[in-house]
Amino acid sequence: MRIKTIIVTGGAGFIGSNFIFYMKRKYPDYRIICLDKLTYAGNLATLQPLMEEANFRFYKADICDRNAVYKVFEEEHPDVVVNFAAESHVDRSIESPEIFLDTNIKGTAVLMDACIKYQVGRFHQISTDEVYGDLPLDRPDLLFTEETPLCTSSPYSSSKVAADLLAMSYYRTYGLPVTISRCSNNYGPYQFTEKLIPLMITRALADQPLPVYGQGINVRDWIYVEDHCKAVDRIIHAGTPGEIYNVGGHNELRNIDIVRLICKELNKPESLITYVADRKGHDLRYAIDASKIYKELGWLPETKFEDGIKKTIQWYVSHPEWWRM
Ligand code: NAD
Repeated sequence: MRIKTIIVTGGAGFIGSNFIFYMKRKYPDYRIICLDKLTYAGNLATLQPLMEEANFRFYKADICDRNAVYKVFEEEHPDVVVNFAAESHVDRSIESPEIFLDTNIKGTAVLMDACIKYQVGRFHQISTDEVYGDLPLDRPDLLFTEETPLCTSSPYSSSKVAADLLAMSYYRTYGLPVTISRCSNNYGPYQFTEKLIPLMITRALADQPLPVYGQGINVRDWIYVEDHCKAVDRIIHAGTPGEIYNVGGHNELRNIDIVRLICKELNKPESLITYVADRKGHDLRYAIDASKIYKELGWLPETKFEDGIKKTIQWYVSHPEWWRM
């Protein structure tokens, strides 16, 4: 499809901002509109270098605020909407689920209503591999495919499933051209320091204890954020409406091994590691089968973990002003 204008919601957050930078570099002619509420997880400083650019515009708005959302759509006439806006931290969802239901479910519905009203050519929902629940640690042969039953563990993942189901129902009932991507754990620059990798890097830099849940044996499939952005780029340009695409890094690692690697890279002692009570309902293992997006759209992750983690650590070392804010 021909694209002139893309609305990126949640573009002041981690993956959304990386996506905006990636798209600006690759498609300098596209107009990119960022709509973000600027919660604790959104940081406008990230987007500051773009603020004066002619092809970029920022709106501070809540995706649950129908009037505000419709106003932006009316003004900007987007061809594509990519929804990164979400409450995204599992621990916070266990403490206070309600905001997750509002933003992740109702907000997604408001955006899709706007897409129908203003005849947007594609609504892309950024989902997560957490919608599939977890896999046992002792069955490395098992992977999540797009057909794996939805089975969630936290209010966060349940709210993401609800949004996915709603999106598929808008495709079927209203014919809204919807695509969904379900990605594994991202790492890279501009991630808020509550998440595992930036938390460990920034605490290690300050010689503070490194709190690891349980025994640290939970396994995640890690993907460098730019590879995720490339997958979304492929899907919005060439993906089939009504389809779901798994996106993964082919890179399973135990939490404890990541923390040890960070200590090694930063030349910090492993004695900083402290084991804390496990998260309630903690998922054991996530692992993605991303063969569909490879076969249909030719996407593969490109960044090796050894390279991506070094780049990420280096970024946090050289941008203390960003994460100390
Ligand atoms: P993030 O928490 O870093 O950023 C979320 C952004 O959304 C922030 O800028 C925040 O201000 C904005 N936002 C929150 N509520 C909003 C609202 N009501 N209206 C408008 N803006 C709002 O999240 P992230 O890690 O960049 O994740 C982005 C998306 O990717 C989420 O949908 C998440 O579920 C999904 N995802 C993340 C990962 C990961 O590893 N981080 C993996 C798979 C999927």
